[in-house]
Amino acid sequence: MFIEQRRGSLEVICGPMFSGKSEELIRRATRALIAKQRVQAFKPALDDRYEVAAIASHSKARLEAVAVQGSADIRRLLAPDTEVVAVDEAQFLDEGLIPLVEALANQGVRVILAGLDQDFAGRPFGIMPALLARAEFVQKLHAICMVCGAAASRSQRLVRSGGTVLVGAAEAYEARCRHCHAGPSEDAPRMVPEG
Ligand code: ADP
Ligand code: ZN
Repeated sequence: MFIEQRRGSLEVICGPMFSGKSEELIRRATRALIAKQRVQAFKPALDDRYEVAAIASHSKARLEAVAVQGSADIRRLLAPDTEVVAVDEAQFLDEGLIPLVEALANQGVRVILAGLDQDFAGRPFGIMPALLARAEFVQKLHAICMVCGAAASRSQRLVRSGGTVLVGAAEAYEARCRHCHAGPSEDAPRMVPEG
């Protein structure tokens, strides 16, 4: 699926929490490393779950990564001979990531991004829509709904406090399908009447 005539492309892995985005990013980056390609991995520094200098999945898979404050750090830290750039939790990064990954892909770099496509309220998350639209390859992963067992596309926040970003608290969320997901305020008017 990802074999190409010319090098350089943008791949986005998206889905809710626990859908295996980090696992999939680590799998792709690890394969490239085994094939002796030069890989650099990054993640936003505000995500400090498990380890600071690694991308870690909920299933404990690991990939060495640099924690960055923003896209400018990635731009500064990139080596000229890097062939694969992997970024986890892309939804937390700034808009500068968009022209950066476009330029990298145009220059022949394989860019692999993973991130939440929706926030806890089911809204498109940050720069993810813009990245998804620009990507050649998109994979939307699903977790298992903790209520009904269907394919889960959303992250349910189980606690009331906090803004859009509530990091390092996997236990504060669970995977839910569309039907079992309750928005931030249950009293908000529904777009489509029930029943
Ligand atoms: P993401 O990066 O999308 O949050 P991870 O790759 O970190 O996902 O973690 C995926 C792992 O989460 C699964 O392999 C599984 O071990 C675990 N997990 C926990 N809750 C669920 C769930 N409801 N459905 C599927 N996997 C789950
Ligand atoms: Zn459900």
